[in-house]
Order: sequence, then C-alpha cells, then structure tokens
Amino acid sequence: MRWRQSFAMVIFTIDQGGSAMSRITPRELLKRREEFQEEAGRAFDQMLGSDGHNGLVTFAQREDRACDLGDALTRRLLEDHLEADESADPGACCDCPICGGPVPCEEPEEAELEKREVQTRRGKAQFERAARRCSRCRRIFFPPR
Ligand SMILES: [Zn+2]
Repeated sequence: MRWRQSFAMVIFTIDQGGSAMSRITPRELLKRREEFQEEAGRAFDQMLGSDGHNGLVTFAQREDRACDLGDALTRRLLEDHLEADESADPGACCDCPICGGPVPCEEPEEAELEKREVQTRRGKAQFERAARRCSRCRRIFFPPR
C-alpha cells in the first residue's frame, strides 16, 4: 500500500460507479482471499470463543456480537472490491473533469493515493483512489475511469 499523502478523509454518499476491470493480479486475489478467510476465522473465534459461548449469555448479546462481526466482514468485502477496481489507480493519462483536457501522469504507479470513506448500510468503508492534478485548472481530482 502506498500512503504518500496525508489522510484526507472525505465523506460522500454518492454512487461513484467504477470500472468493470480489475487491477489486481490472480496472485493478489488469492492473497486477499486468504486474508479474508483469516478475518472470518477471527470473527468466528470472537463469537464462539474457546468454549462455544465466549461469555455471551442473552440473545441481545449474541445478536449484537454477530451483527457487529458480520458488518465488519461486509465492509471488508466491499473495501476489497473497491480497491480491486481499476479506477482506484488509473493509467498514464486521463481527462480533467473540469476543462476536459488531457492530464498526463508520467509515473501512474507513483500517483498520490487518497483515502476515501463512504457510509454504507453496514458502517463506514474505506478505500483508496489515485489523485491527478490538472496544471491548467490547478485542481486535484479523482478520475472516475
Ligand atoms: Zn483541467
């Protein structure tokens, strides 16, 4: 992960759309799957513990824990999907959404990434988007691709 920019948290609730293309390799996909399985295993352990009830007695306690853990896994799935989207880190050139002119990027792999945050039905999910700066407009934008 590249964190070259300060964490400017942006709250937005609009549908950002995205690309149907994936930017991650099959190897990376497998790695993320394994990481998800590990997180799901930790969620199971936090629910059941080593004794099958982990201190949860009432139905409300059980429901609260299960919902919290499930929500966290839901957010994780969404974040993984958003980060795999090609628009998270577009290619060498894109158009400025303000002036429409081309905005080249000599080294797209070095593009600044900004952490974004979106409110979902299961809490806030975070993901990254590559930023581009239009020298004509002097504005930073996030290519929708
Ligand atoms: Zn521009």
